[in-house]
Amino acid sequence: MEIESEHEMIIVGAGPAGLCAALYAGRSELDTLVLDKDMPGGQLLLTDTVDDYPGLEDVGGMELARAMTDHAEKFGVGVARGEVTSIERDEDRRFLVHTADGETYRSPVVIMTAGGSYRTLGVPGEDEYRGKGVSYCAICDGAFFKGEHIAVVGGGDSAVEEATFLTRYASKVTVVHRRDHFTAQAVLEDRLMDKVEEDEAEIVWNHVVEEIEGDPETGVSGLRLRKVKTDPETGDVIELDETRELPVTGVFIFIGFVPNTGIVGEHAEHDDAGYIITDSHMRSSTPGLFVAGDVRSQLVRQITTAVGDATTAVFAAEEYLQELREAEAEGEEPHWPPAEDSPEFEAQVEVRSGEMSPEETGRTPATAS
Ligand code: NAP
Repeated sequence: MEIESEHEMIIVGAGPAGLCAALYAGRSELDTLVLDKDMPGGQLLLTDTVDDYPGLEDVGGMELARAMTDHAEKFGVGVARGEVTSIERDEDRRFLVHTADGETYRSPVVIMTAGGSYRTLGVPGEDEYRGKGVSYCAICDGAFFKGEHIAVVGGGDSAVEEATFLTRYASKVTVVHRRDHFTAQAVLEDRLMDKVEEDEAEIVWNHVVEEIEGDPETGVSGLRLRKVKTDPETGDVIELDETRELPVTGVFIFIGFVPNTGIVGEHAEHDDAGYIITDSHMRSSTPGLFVAGDVRSQLVRQITTAVGDATTAVFAAEEYLQELREAEAEGEEPHWPPAEDSPEFEAQVEVRSGEMSPEETGRTPATAS
């Protein structure tokens, strides 16, 4: 196999976590390759306005993406276009990073920051009104809907938790769910039901969104909903011959988030939802594989947490590179705590695998999407 190039570090993904990792790698003068399948920025490119990044009260997502990219480039690390399809580890403790166009890059360290994607409804109006009333992030966009009637779609933890969160801004939150019950944790459902009792929220059971309606200038004006029922045998959703209009100015869609973890395959231990588990140094279960940002198992997924993860990951990776050099000179294995008998890593696996709830661990439950 021909190796296109060798580096000290390869960063997979150029969202806020990848770009921050690139910045610190550049400052540390590490020979670093950053690969992203699209232009740099990740989910920032889908975000109209960012108003929760400290010091930047109101910045366009695109603008912040460009600023982060320029900042990393200033320290000598640019982003190369390349869709990483798989990562394997050779016998010499080096990763082989393969891309869709057939290239292979080699490095002792990979920082995985490939994020994930929000599952979308795929209905008319969803793409058209994205950022104009269609949102996938309550923390990012909730404040834009102060005093307005909005809808939340979904029936899992995210939808139920975020609907409750959004009542602090909206005059009313209508949750649209395709079943007649939620699958969210009881504690989250209880909190939403309190809001229903207080008339701040309502639930529309057994309906799906058929179309998001609006105006290209002013954005979302309503939803067309279709009544459905669940097939008792198969559990399939069956559409019925009845529709209704729901006049809302915003719709928050929480029907699942898919982490882009497939490319690391069996190299990293996952939680039940597929996110990669790390210790506090962002070390995964495989030596040399660090993880930062939305692809990592954690309570909150924000730009601020992504850059925090990335900062830690680069410093920890630098330490690992030093230990690797020393260990190899001595003909020994480098130190990698998560790999074996680390109480901290085991505790993370336990928490992240759902064996302990956030309440049991004393953590504040996540409000982020
Ligand atoms: P999820 O648990 O997969 O729930 C997705 C919801 O969206 C389900 O109600 C599903 O309905 C519905 N749905 C899926 N596709 C749909 C479609 N095309 N149209 C309408 N509805 C659709 O996803 P999530 O709520 O984002 O949670 C993801 C993971 O994060 C879970 O493991 C969750 O426990 C975790 N999480 C935890 C917390 C917390 O602990 N505080 C908070 C948020 C998330 P069906 O049931 O009909 O498929």
